[in-house]
Amino acid sequence: MLFRRRRRDLVCQLAVELITDYLEGALLPDDRARLEVHLAVCPHCAEYLAQIRATIAAAGSVDAEALAPDVRDELVGLYRRWQQG
Ligand SMILES: [Zn+2]
Repeated sequence: MLFRRRRRDLVCQLAVELITDYLEGALLPDDRARLEVHLAVCPHCAEYLAQIRATIAAAGSVDAEALAPDVRDELVGLYRRWQQG
């Protein structure tokens, strides 16, 4: 039985931290599954992931570390505004 706790801020913060590792294939299977469940129910984190993926695709790299620091900062700032709204 699955019941959803309303701890969005903490969960989203963790999800954002995991997304880079997720894209790098560095997550443990349990963490990966947990993140994918969250992405399925959280449009903010799903959009965040989509934007990072689009940026990586545009850069022609599969490595999230290839993101320019200012682009990453911009995405994080955008994400934080979502959370506050
Ligand atoms: Zn989220």
